[in-house]
Amino acid sequence: MQRTHRTPALLALLLAVAVALAGCGKEGSPPVKGPRPDQLPVYQVRSDFTLPDSPTWERAKKRGRLIVGVKEDQPYMGEKDPATGRYSGFDVEIARMMAASLGFDPNRVEFRTIASANRETALQNGQIDYYVGTYTINDNRKKLVGFAGPYYQAGQSLLVRADEKDIHGPQDLAGKRVCSAAGSTPYQRIQKNYPKAELVAYDTYSVCVDNLLTYQVDAVTTDDTILLGYAAKVPDELKVVGKPFSKEPYGIGVPRGDNALRLALDDALAAHEKNGDWKKAYDATLGLSGVPAPKPPAIDRYPSD
Ligand code: GLU
Repeated sequence: MQRTHRTPALLALLLAVAVALAGCGKEGSPPVKGPRPDQLPVYQVRSDFTLPDSPTWERAKKRGRLIVGVKEDQPYMGEKDPATGRYSGFDVEIARMMAASLGFDPNRVEFRTIASANRETALQNGQIDYYVGTYTINDNRKKLVGFAGPYYQAGQSLLVRADEKDIHGPQDLAGKRVCSAAGSTPYQRIQKNYPKAELVAYDTYSVCVDNLLTYQVDAVTTDDTILLGYAAKVPDELKVVGKPFSKEPYGIGVPRGDNALRLALDDALAAHEKNGDWKKAYDATLGLSGVPAPKPPAIDRYPSD
């Protein structure tokens, strides 16, 4: 039986209600789904730490706080609570771990939301000290910024409406309207390998998801980590289909040439993977998607850039 299409306005309302239900619970109570703050590890701040060879670290020390670039609309990974302004998610936890290892107290870390297309310029202009936000390491980007890590490996996937019957993988995208974020590797991959798809770009994936729910596009494509978070917010409306069709190793972006900072972050990642913080952070955030913690990928301590 053909399911009747709901009107866009009704869908938008349904989404708003679903998001409100998922995000708030009773006033003051933790979200029904999402990171559980009580289960997050407290990271040991290294108060004796110095890094005189890193201009970025020296600048942050003088300023008295670290400024870290993140995402704010990617559930499980980097999400900002509009009521409290607090950021949460696996990327945000990685950012907090790194800050502690660099000698910064949690209350000395300021998060700044930066969209996919603006990451390189934000690092080049010194707007942020480092960036943790589903940021794929690749050779093109390495010409512009440095990367510590990887600390996780994601894969490109597809998000469709729950009643979608035709789209099972990227091979089914010919003639379909497909949305992704400007400047992202998933956008570039569809453009190059699936040129028959009608690509639509916005600054953020959450705008793509709004467009999917209101029948403006047929699919949203980006990393599985991000799409699973959107699907979990409205499981009756959205589903992730097919198998991941790329490798997206996530790195911590740093200003290019600041090898001291990059290698200090590599050391810090290795230490937090070893002492169990990485797994605890994963379990309390991205692990809520139902995917058990994998073994973190090997850290790539590449020579000076
Ligand atoms: N990991 C991909 C990228 O860095 C997609 C996610 C994102 O846009 O942050 O482009």
